Amino acid sequence: MTKQYGVWITHDIDHIRMREHYFRDIFLFRLLGVSAIEVLKGRRSIWSLCKLKWSLFRPNTWDHFDEWIILEKKHGIRSTWFFAVNRGSSLSYTNEEIKPVAHKLKDEGFDLGLHGQHHTGEKEIRREYELFHKIIGTHPEGIRMHYLRISKKSFFELTDLYIYDSSLFVRHLEQPKKTLHMLEIPLHIMDTYLFSPFYNNFTLEEAKKYTEKMLKEAKKKKRLVVFDIHPHHLDKNFPRQREWILWLYDYIGKDKSCKKFEINDILENYAEQTPMVKK
Ligand SMILES: [Zn+2]
Repeated sequence: MTKQYGVWITHDIDHIRMREHYFRDIFLFRLLGVSAIEVLKGRRSIWSLCKLKWSLFRPNTWDHFDEWIILEKKHGIRSTWFFAVNRGSSLSYTNEEIKPVAHKLKDEGFDLGLHGQHHTGEKEIRREYELFHKIIGTHPEGIRMHYLRISKKSFFELTDLYIYDSSLFVRHLEQPKKTLHMLEIPLHIMDTYLFSPFYNNFTLEEAKKYTEKMLKEAKKKKRLVVFDIHPHHLDKNFPRQREWILWLYDYIGKDKSCKKFEINDILENYAEQTPMVKK
């Protein structure tokens, strides 16, 4: 195992476009409620809330995948994208809707993983694994659970299917380690936790400071920092999130000592801890 300072950028695709929530769930009502709380807590302007409301009438809002591809290529980043093959809480896109997006990302050379909706139940877990294969043509190597729902039991049920799991969220720089037959890759910084009024509720400057502190510590200790960024947050209606993403990519892009890990680099780095072939 070589110790090297770097980042692994991952994305949980919870939404492709705003329109997939029309008449399918109550997510947009919840979003408006949370955004009103942001206004009350001084984290969003009333003007920004008005613009968000107006954007509800633009059904393709949030589809920024082309912008993501350009942004990541510019900074030499090959991230991993976890997408769902079953609907879940506030996640309502269909397989027909995700298929072209997933294939576009795959064709551009990005890695794909499963955003799991079933964290227990062998049958359901296997069904999701096979559904991914049906859509992409290959089985997923890795999984991250929606809402990071994972239990001890899940590890036993996932271990023979997946090479790695990345559903554990830790706020210190815990590094990947073998768990049963899998490599467990903990995640350290998630956009939702930085900005949600129910979690850190950071201003943009506070979020930058927090991130920079963790990156500096990782650089000093030669550690890997794992990010989870939800792709719809690149939309202008999430101004703090968007500014933070652009700042982060610029920050790590300029730092040549920061290795931009791809999933295969991590699996190779920890090869002695995890079998590279599936059971
Ligand atoms: Zn999710």
